[in-house]
Amino acid sequence: MGGRDRPGIEEPQLAEAAARLRAAHYVVALTGAGISVESGIPDFRSPGGLWSVFRPEEYATIEVFRANPEKAWRLYRALGETLVGREPNPAHVALAALEQAGLLRLVVTQNIDGLHQAAGSRNVVEIHGDHRRLQCVRCGHLEEARPERLAERVPACPGCSAPLKPNVVLFGEAVRDLDAIEQAARRCDLLLVVGTSAQVYPAAAIPSLVRAGGGAIIEFNVEKTALTAARHPRDFFFRGPAGTTLPQFAQAAIPRDQTA
Ligand code: NAD
Ligand code: ZN
Repeated sequence: MGGRDRPGIEEPQLAEAAARLRAAHYVVALTGAGISVESGIPDFRSPGGLWSVFRPEEYATIEVFRANPEKAWRLYRALGETLVGREPNPAHVALAALEQAGLLRLVVTQNIDGLHQAAGSRNVVEIHGDHRRLQCVRCGHLEEARPERLAERVPACPGCSAPLKPNVVLFGEAVRDLDAIEQAARRCDLLLVVGTSAQVYPAAAIPSLVRAGGGAIIEFNVEKTALTAARHPRDFFFRGPAGTTLPQFAQAAIPRDQTA
């Protein structure tokens, strides 16, 4: 029993999980705030995180944006500051390498930081949007979030002059690409769950869909989650910082002649 709970990845399990990955047909990775912690982006919920300064119900809802965009922009600017200048870490790079080796089909991320793409992942679904662009909720206009635009108190849409917001999903807005992720979850026979408590819908639904279809889950987290507690004998839990465990796993899984 307990062997699979010990910190780090031990050799027999590493080899077993790597073989499972190579044998799988449709591998998906689900990532959350934890994968970017080692890039210097704290998760929002921890003490001192963004939500302790800007209470989400007071700043991060679509209603607040509509009623008082100037107030909402105080949060958006603080959010932008935590994300700007960040670089992918070895966990993002490992997922990109797995995709390049043909061992990973899709990354579904709850993050808005763009670090998967920066690491070289191509097939990425950002269910909570991205912070690299500004969005007009009235006419659908999208533009790059350039510094001179961010310097305006509330940037306005060049098409319809409505206030713009970052292209991120606020509380009260619909998540993106639900159909695509549901389809992927149904096809998926192996799911990598990295740095997420997977408690928020729709991320929470993906592991259940994969399990219902007979698929397995390999979880990478610094601590146990509700998912770990409910794990099936075919699942793995690799405890430790994803920047250490994921590269170890990717290296074991990628055939030697494909590594540099
Ligand atoms: P969460 O805060 O619920 O969970 C983060 C998980 O990461 C925890 O289970 C924690 O144990 C784990 N973790 C922390 N450090 C880790 C590490 N080094 N390696 C592996 N695991 C680690 O986060 P969530 O489930 O992603 O939900 C928070 C929401 O806030 C997300 O929906 C996301 O959109 C948003 N968010 C985004 C960013 C970003 O874009 N980087 C950052 C913070 C929050
Ligand atoms: Zn517009």
